[in-house]
Amino acid sequence: MTSRPPLLLNVADVRRHLGARQEVQRTVQLPALSVLAARVLDGDDIDLRAAIESTASGAVAIDGVVHAPWVGECRRCLREVTGVLEARLQEVFEPSPTEGETYPLVDEMIELEPMVRDAVLLALPLAPLCDDGCRGPDPSAFPVEQGRNRAPASPGDANPPIDPRWAALGQLAETDT
Ligand SMILES: [Zn+2]
Repeated sequence: MTSRPPLLLNVADVRRHLGARQEVQRTVQLPALSVLAARVLDGDDIDLRAAIESTASGAVAIDGVVHAPWVGECRRCLREVTGVLEARLQEVFEPSPTEGETYPLVDEMIELEPMVRDAVLLALPLAPLCDDGCRGPDPSAFPVEQGRNRAPASPGDANPPIDPRWAALGQLAETDT
């Protein structure tokens, strides 16, 4: 018996009986789950708990949840931030899938990995914060910008990102006049 990828599922039994349900529980490791400021580390466990069910149209619907630990950088102070993401799964697998909406069902098999990847990538925080009250680095204590630029920057290149709170003040000032 050849071993299958853990997220490849035979759904023949479920499809044979309309409304039949099958519980799915998997713990997997998937590489390269990363967005700009956050990622799931290669080798960390991603937990999938779901139920699959046949539908009248011959498709298979899945309803469940994915949990995965992530690490990232605080968008203000660049310190490491960690968390656990939760992604809801409500998807359909069908023999003639619609690109971007449903996933393929081929020879009574469904491959859950693309769905899990999509869900995790969507749930990773795009701009993590170490703390809601994080005020960013103290410029005197953390000369962050110099350390991050290998090449010496000329004084004219100094262009610190605008703190969103100051940007909001700028808008207020404009509307006041
Ligand atoms: Zn921070």
